Amino acid sequence: MIRELRVDAARCTHCRQCLDVCSTNVIGWDEGRDRPYAQFPLDCQLCCICEDACPAGAITVIPNWGLKYYPDYLSKGGMERVKRAHNG
Ligand code: SF4
Ligand code: SF4
Repeated sequence: MIRELRVDAARCTHCRQCLDVCSTNVIGWDEGRDRPYAQFPLDCQLCCICEDACPAGAITVIPNWGLKYYPDYLSKGGMERVKRAHNG
């Protein structure tokens, strides 16, 4: 489960690779803003494959810390990813 799928609009090249790799169909396409968004945030597995697939480093998975403890996410450097996202 995620609180936010953060997309850096300045970096996103609109390639849609993040949509293609998400096996749970969490990521949809916001036609108005021309960028990805979390259409089914409750289904996110925190696998971070979307982050790894983004050639522009434009997408960051922000977990919902209040609901669950995510050892897998943390073991993959999740906390560092979140810190980078918050610090720009
Ligand atoms: S972390 Fe995994 S499940 Fe969640 S949006 Fe990214 S690819 Fe999909
Ligand atoms: S993979 Fe990255 S650059 Fe491509 S649409 Fe997704 S966020 Fe934008």
